Amino acid sequence: MRIARFSIDGNVAFGAVEGTDPGDLVLDIIKGIPYTDFELSGTKVPLGKVRLLPPVLPSKVVAYGRNYREHAAELGNEVPPVPFAFLKPSTSVIGTGDDIVYPAVSEDVHHEAELAVVIGRLCREVPHERVADVVFGYTCANDLTARDLQRSEKQWARAKGFDTACPLGPWVETDIALAAANDLTVQCTVNGDQRQLGRTSEMIHPIEDLIVNITEAMTLLPGDVVLTGTPAGVGPLRPGDEVAVSIEGIGTLTNKVIKRG
Ligand code: ZN
Repeated sequence: MRIARFSIDGNVAFGAVEGTDPGDLVLDIIKGIPYTDFELSGTKVPLGKVRLLPPVLPSKVVAYGRNYREHAAELGNEVPPVPFAFLKPSTSVIGTGDDIVYPAVSEDVHHEAELAVVIGRLCREVPHERVADVVFGYTCANDLTARDLQRSEKQWARAKGFDTACPLGPWVETDIALAAANDLTVQCTVNGDQRQLGRTSEMIHPIEDLIVNITEAMTLLPGDVVLTGTPAGVGPLRPGDEVAVSIEGIGTLTNKVIKRG
């Protein structure tokens, strides 16, 4: 099931996305909270008539660095021997169609297309064999990075955490098995030109290792998000660009870059 979060007439709701033709999708409004038991209301609205919001409101976004060999190499970095996590704040999250606001403190913001894992239940110290039980589903992410700040500052709070630095969407796909999620095509285009193309099977540490690693240290809550790293091909964005992250079996997350007026 594809679960979207949206606003209509000033109200916010979750809905199940139905249909296959991208121009003809319909939302069946969900009664209740999608992480727990919920029902479809049967009340349907055309997706074109609503504004999609970020599909989740995470308390935190945990992201993993250098999880693809060729990407680590393109920035001249060694591959870390163990998974290597950092945080992006909840205030950096935007949805599909929202504008990426180019931060005034940077002149070199890069796109990073990534598979995002959405957590479905409160969990800590998750063992390898229980990881599938805590995953709610998957969505597309763009781990926007102010590369100049990343180079000049030891911690990445500003480089990776500026407002709008974490587009997520367009919705959460819940029907992908864990093994399948570890083998999906991840693509990024800028103004229609392909910039990144990889497969999650190229990840150095698969999803299970990342969830085990982060929950050794902290509790994850329903709606929290884990970003799994980016394949090679990262590069700069400029105001006016349109950047799209597409993941096989999920959909496409599209955002325009603007300069604050
Ligand atoms: Zn990243």
